[in-house]
Amino acid sequence: MQIIEIYRSIQGESSYAGVPCIFVRLAGCNLRCDWCDSEYTFTGGKKMTIEEVESQVEQLSPHGLVEVTGGEPMLQEKEVVPLMERLLNAGYNVLLETSGERPLQSVPKEIIKIVDVKCPHSGEPDTFRLENLDALTSRDEVKFVISDRTDYEFARDFTAEHQLGSRVSSVIFSPAFGKEASGTRDTSHCLLDPQALAEWMLADSAPARLGLQLHKFIWDPAMKGV
Ligand code: SF4
Repeated sequence: MQIIEIYRSIQGESSYAGVPCIFVRLAGCNLRCDWCDSEYTFTGGKKMTIEEVESQVEQLSPHGLVEVTGGEPMLQEKEVVPLMERLLNAGYNVLLETSGERPLQSVPKEIIKIVDVKCPHSGEPDTFRLENLDALTSRDEVKFVISDRTDYEFARDFTAEHQLGSRVSSVIFSPAFGKEASGTRDTSHCLLDPQALAEWMLADSAPARLGLQLHKFIWDPAMKGV
């Protein structure tokens, strides 16, 4: 499998935000989101066997949380599913971060899927594969990265239409972060003011939680491998 990097840091997103986590970042993505902060994953990387990846994870920590991410990890489904099974069998809690554009039916139910459904102004609208709704479990989470009111209304209505509140453990509305952001670690780099998003959520009693990308506030937002 083609790997960009394997490192240990603090989980920045999802309901696991703040928890130490090992990240296995795979190369390649079939989408091009406007505010992507992982463009360095689109090409390159190092070819590694499943055993080599597992061994490197074990060297970083013998237990705990592992996130398989990208790029789009499900583009390497033939290798990534067996890797996640091995990590599960070794006792890790395993998260899979995916756009949901690729089929998710082969992902073991014990894996916690964090599915990033793309909003209208992401640059990649309508890419979520609706059949994947049936693959979601009560352990999974659905995330929407929101840049404006149109994106918010899409996330709110999609959540209601597909009853996400009762399908998954968390629905997360997260303000988009400017991809050229660097230096200052505050909300001024958010493309949508988190306060506005919070007020909209409260006004609508949206069955979702507000999520900020914690890692952008801990380290320089432009830093990789953190
Ligand atoms: S799916 Fe993720 S990695 Fe791919 S372009 Fe969008 S934000 Fe970047």
